[in-house]
Amino acid sequence: MKAPICEVCLKTDDILCPADEKKLQEGVISELDVKIARLLYKLLGDADIEFKRAVEAGDLIVIMVGEGDVPLTIGKGGKNIKLLMRELGKRIRVIEGREIKGTDDVKKLATDLFYPASIFGVNVVYKPNGGQYYKVLVLQRDKNKLPEKPEVLENILTQITGKDAKITFI
Ligand SMILES: [Zn+2]
Repeated sequence: MKAPICEVCLKTDDILCPADEKKLQEGVISELDVKIARLLYKLLGDADIEFKRAVEAGDLIVIMVGEGDVPLTIGKGGKNIKLLMRELGKRIRVIEGREIKGTDDVKKLATDLFYPASIFGVNVVYKPNGGQYYKVLVLQRDKNKLPEKPEVLENILTQITGKDAKITFI
């Protein structure tokens, strides 16, 4: 398993090696990344998957993995997800982590995250003070299909993209 911490750190449960401790201090990785990496390692061991990062909001944890790695991470019949939910006491979503270069990438990300609701479109909105945010358009009729509260999904999108995200129902 590929992870943002080294194999030695994956195998231990308490301390981090100096290199990974530095990453944590500098904010390159979070406490949550460390926790999830270790739990996934326990479940998946040497499986050929990549864990990229995890973010949480409300009672949801979103786990981002490499391309094509979602089924293995979830496990047969969702068994890994069930174990993680029990261990963490939160709801879990596993999606492919991708680099965010533009609205197309945000749309793909939101499509994974908002399923079964669908995304009508994503626009970049320029704020008067110079900042920007992503406006994610969802059809009014899909409102009840969102898997989480809109605020939770907005928070997750903001953390992943590094830019404010707002859902607008049209
Ligand atoms: Zn390490």
